[in-house]
Amino acid sequence: MSLIRKITLSNGNTIEVECLSCAIVDGIIEPEGGVVVETEYFHAHQDVAYPIKGLVILASKRHITSFDELTREEKLDYIDILTKIRRKQREVLGVEYVYYFYNEDTTHHFHTWMVPRYEWMYEFGRSVESVRPVLLHARENLNSNGNIQEVKEAIHALARALKED
Ligand SMILES: [Zn+2]
Repeated sequence: MSLIRKITLSNGNTIEVECLSCAIVDGIIEPEGGVVVETEYFHAHQDVAYPIKGLVILASKRHITSFDELTREEKLDYIDILTKIRRKQREVLGVEYVYYFYNEDTTHHFHTWMVPRYEWMYEFGRSVESVRPVLLHARENLNSNGNIQEVKEAIHALARALKED
């Protein structure tokens, strides 16, 4: 797969990368909102395009897209860091429930969305059908500077807690 993608950075510069995920892993692009935690095989960050407190995207560092491509070491690392992040979402941010989503037909690396469930989300339904409207609602209506600041602070608190582990 060698599709060149043009990426516009937050500072207005445009760069060309073959794979956005590889560019993040290699440190060429800094994910806005910052890195939550990094392990040997995985990389976790927040996507502030969807300003939901405690939302984490956990992505493999290796250029793969499907669950069955994970090696044994990657599988162990994945479940270990996934549960650690989940525990910190509960302890630090009081997140009671999380929705997990991943799709393999992605232009990014294998990645799992961890979307904390908040009370306001239930008006969009209770299960998989509510994921997209919830994300769109966040992107369109929760993007005030104040809320984005809160989201960034939450992610820093998560990152700190994970570092102390
Ligand atoms: Zn890649």
